[in-house]
Amino acid sequence: MKESAILVTGGAGYIGSHTVRMLAEDAGRKVIVLDNLVYGHSESLVSPGVTLVRGDVGDRVAVDAIFEAYAIEAVVHFAAYCYVGESVTDPLKYYRNNTAAPLTVLEAMQCHGCDKFIFSSTCATYGNPVTLPLSENHPQDPINPYGRSKLMLEQILRDCERAFGLRSVWLRYFNASGCSPDGLIGEDHDPETHLIPLVLMAIKGERENIKVFGTDYPTPDGTCIRDYIHVLDLGRAHVMALDYLEKGGATVACNLGTGKGVSVKEIIAIAEELTGGKVPVEFVERREGDPPELVADPRFARAKLGWEAEYKDVREIVRTAWKWLSGPRGGRY
Ligand code: UDP
Repeated sequence: MKESAILVTGGAGYIGSHTVRMLAEDAGRKVIVLDNLVYGHSESLVSPGVTLVRGDVGDRVAVDAIFEAYAIEAVVHFAAYCYVGESVTDPLKYYRNNTAAPLTVLEAMQCHGCDKFIFSSTCATYGNPVTLPLSENHPQDPINPYGRSKLMLEQILRDCERAFGLRSVWLRYFNASGCSPDGLIGEDHDPETHLIPLVLMAIKGERENIKVFGTDYPTPDGTCIRDYIHVLDLGRAHVMALDYLEKGGATVACNLGTGKGVSVKEIIAIAEELTGGKVPVEFVERREGDPPELVADPRFARAKLGWEAEYKDVREIVRTAWKWLSGPRGGRY
């Protein structure tokens, strides 16, 4: 008899590694991570019993070998590129990796009779909000190749359900942030482009300053508003989505956010207050493709999966990010 396991693609990345830890340590699942370690870090896989297979999601031989060796009950799919700017200059890289490569995993699933798939989707599939907060039935009209590369996979998954019964949960993340509160694992992107780590790195003196992209938005303080969601809340949603599918749930999309918007200036003020440091700020032009406000309506995730954010106060998110960045590893693996 083959050992049962959950296959986590991209499990050595930021959100993946936090989820792997929850699946292994809290849910007691056997986890196989498939990661090419281009952006992921093998050191982030800290739980005993997790097996790392170094390889590409698009490599049919590597994927088949996993399905041959284990009884894969479900696939949790993180492996993707996530730089919006890069997706504009190099769209084919994004369509190849985020849209085309996962087809290999879906083919293997069809072949081996695995019918549960949890997908890291994104609020970037909505594009510019027409109504706020964003609910799952808001029109999806992404404004960059990154968002389109994810939306296309959602559509493919819908077709797979119709054709051969593959059921999936599409988790549309808002702004993933924070780190494991024990400081053991965290966010280590190269390059780092996200606001909270950049602000904290500026406080540490690792960066000269933080550039605030635009102060003339139609928001109370003129800077962009985002819905920052803790990485542990995201991880927990994957465990709950797995439970939902194992109980026979049908394909569904769920927003993962707190439902609360926080501005760029507010993040800077909170970071200064929590660390006692000072953020050198430079106000610059708007960044292309940034909507003024993105806030989730998270009620459907609660109704469908029983999930809601536990880290509702962004201070706690910034606090955990600071613990990782100011800890023994200094924010690096
Ligand atoms: N932002 C900023 N300076 C930076 C990075 C981000 O002002 O160096 C702003 C950005 O315009 C957005 C918010 O911070 O309004 C969050 O950006 P991030 O890149 O973290 O996530 P995104 O919303 O793009 O997914």
